[in-house]
Amino acid sequence: MNPVIAIHGGAGVMRGITPQGAKRYKGGLERALDAGYAVLEAGGASLEAVAAAVTQLEDDPLFNAGRGAVYTSDERHELDASIMDGATLRAGGVTAASRIRNPVLAARAVMEHSPHVLLAGRGAEVFARKHAIAFAPPSYFHTSNRLRALRKGLLRHHGTVGAVALDAQGNLAAATSTGGSTGKLPGRVGDSPIIGAGTYADNATCAVSGTGLGEAFIRVALAHEVSARMRLRGEPLARAAAAGLAQVARIGGDGGLIAVDRRGNIAMPFNSEGMFRACIGRDGARIVAIYR
Ligand code: ASP
Repeated sequence: MNPVIAIHGGAGVMRGITPQGAKRYKGGLERALDAGYAVLEAGGASLEAVAAAVTQLEDDPLFNAGRGAVYTSDERHELDASIMDGATLRAGGVTAASRIRNPVLAARAVMEHSPHVLLAGRGAEVFARKHAIAFAPPSYFHTSNRLRALRKGLLRHHGTVGAVALDAQGNLAAATSTGGSTGKLPGRVGDSPIIGAGTYADNATCAVSGTGLGEAFIRVALAHEVSARMRLRGEPLARAAAAGLAQVARIGGDGGLIAVDRRGNIAMPFNSEGMFRACIGRDGARIVAIYR
C-alpha cells in the first residue's frame, strides 16, 4: 500500500496575508510535508511520520504551535499537544506546558512511557524533563507579531498544526499541537490535547486532526465524531468529515480538519476563510493550499 499524509497549519481568517506571505506559509507546509513523507517512504510508521511533520511545524515561527505560539491574556505561552496510534488506540497529550520546546514529543512520551493519557502544566514538564524532552526559555517562544496581536485585541487570530498519516503497513496515526487561542485565560484547555476532540486515530476508521474554535470542537467531540460516523453508520470519510464539521458550525464554531482513512482517502474540509493544508495522496500527487 502506498503511504499517505496530510497536514494542516491552522484555519481561520486569512485577510492580510500578502502573496509573499502565502508563499512563505506554503514553504513551511512543504517542509513539514516532506519531513513526514520521508519517514513513510523509508517504510517508517505513521506515528513516526506525524510526529516528524508536527515537530517541523512547531519549530516554524509562522505557525501557532511551539515557536510562534500565541499569547495568553497574561502574555505567556501555554502549549497543548496530543498524539494517537490507530493500531492500538494508545494516546498521549500535554496541556498548559510553557517550556517544552516540542510539545508533540512530550505527548508521545506520555503515551509511551506513562500509564496516563494527558498530563498538565508542571506535572507535564516534570515528566518531560525526566524523559529527556528538550526545553526552551520563554524568549524562544516569543514572536513580536503574536504579542502585537494580543495587545491590539486581535483575539480571533488562531491556528494550530496537525498531521494524519497512513503507513505502508496500513496503520493510521494523528497528532495535533497548538498555542491555543490568542488571549485565552491562563489554564484554558482547548481541543488539541484532548483525545476525541482535536485528535483521534483508529485503524478501523480514520485518523483526524482539527483546527478551529476549540470549545466547539470539544462540545461535539469532533475527531471522535468523524470516526464514529464511519464505524457506526458506514459513512465514507468525506461525508463523515463534512457532517462532523457541520455540527461544529451549528453551535457557532468555525475551523476545519484533516483526515485520512484506512484506504488512504483524504478529506480536508473547513468552514473558515481558509486553512493552511497540504497532502500527498495514494497516487503520490501533492497538494499545498490555503484558500478554497
Ligand atoms: N483549536 C485550537 C484551540 O482551540 C485553536 C485553533 O486551532 O485555531 O486551542
